[in-house]
Amino acid sequence: MAHYKQLCAICKKNMVLMSFRKKFPICVDCELKQIDGEIENPKFKKLFDIPVKFYRENDFLRDIKKKYLMYGFLTEKQIAAFKKTVKEMQKDLKKG
Ligand SMILES: [Zn+2]
Repeated sequence: MAHYKQLCAICKKNMVLMSFRKKFPICVDCELKQIDGEIENPKFKKLFDIPVKFYRENDFLRDIKKKYLMYGFLTEKQIAAFKKTVKEMQKDLKKG
């Protein structure tokens, strides 16, 4: 699958690396702003309370948070995958 770059449709400043998973050109900065919503549910508040760095580095984590903000819920499978990814990133962080 060929990757190509497209200008961010929101800020029109940054180039975005497009892939088969990414259908809308939005840069990481704009995406982080988009998912910076207030979360009322304490369970999900805790789940999403991870370093911004993780969201910046991992588009899967951004994707899950976006889905939650959009639909107001996540499946157990999505929650488990989110936790697993965060755990792996924390492990990598400790390894340095
Ligand atoms: Zn942008």
